[in-house]
Amino acid sequence: MQWTPEAEAAIKKVPFFVRKKVRTRVEKEAGAAGKHVVSIEDVKASQARYLSKMDSEIKGYQIDTCFGPSGCPNRAIVGDRLVERIETLLKKEDLLAFLKQRVQGDIKFHHEFRVTLADCPNACSQPQIKDIGIIGACTPALTDEACSECEACVEVCKENAITINNANATCKVDYNLCLQCGLCIDACPTGTITAGDKGFRVQIGGKLGRHPQLARELPGIFNEDEVLAIVKDCIAFYKTNSKHGQRFAQIFTAQDFENLASFHS
Ligand code: SF4
Ligand code: SF4
Ligand code: SF4
Repeated sequence: MQWTPEAEAAIKKVPFFVRKKVRTRVEKEAGAAGKHVVSIEDVKASQARYLSKMDSEIKGYQIDTCFGPSGCPNRAIVGDRLVERIETLLKKEDLLAFLKQRVQGDIKFHHEFRVTLADCPNACSQPQIKDIGIIGACTPALTDEACSECEACVEVCKENAITINNANATCKVDYNLCLQCGLCIDACPTGTITAGDKGFRVQIGGKLGRHPQLARELPGIFNEDEVLAIVKDCIAFYKTNSKHGQRFAQIFTAQDFENLASFHS
């Protein structure tokens, strides 16, 4: 949908981490009113509607994804089913009822437990600043298929993790540099590089606010069931330790991270 310059300028003032959501909402509401161009009036009307029903919008959790499901070609893994399973779990845990018991005064969006999934290490949905950030991962594995030395893999790897030895036509991956984006796998025409472990990296304990902090990453790649188990453990920790509705990331200490990591290693 097209936006007038005034409307574009207004949406750019919305904080970047909720801008996508707000833009979608405004377009949906303008579309429902039969419009093909979003004007500044549409932005203001949407904002007024949003503020008037803010209380009813609070769910106790927020879960979002990157643009992977809308057809991004960079997806290292398709995480749609995992997102559905996590949302089912979050609903079942009834975090809104939990927050109502613990928070004195009104519950605001900033109280909500936040989970995001990015389908590749480009991390467009900002997993580093969420309570739980999940990143799709696909590890390259080398096969016995002959390498043609085309260097397509070298060109596509943004981490300079691949070297080709022209003396014996072999390919080497430096797994300390590799971010498991899987792009070299698609680029390799000979099957010399193939998909190895596929799954999800999990980052824990990120947040913005007055004391921002980046999430820390659990070692390893996890399958869907394992990610679900980690999310469950984090919610159990949150419900036990957030006595006044503090954010998970605020109360989850370095020692808690080590305990979680050793339990899920
Ligand atoms: S995180 Fe990766 S898959 Fe998701 S939108 Fe960004 S580039 Fe695409
Ligand atoms: S998976 Fe991505 S980061 Fe790793 S070697 Fe291949 S292209 Fe490079
Ligand atoms: S893309 Fe495949 S064939 Fe080409 S250099 Fe890399 S490993 Fe060899």
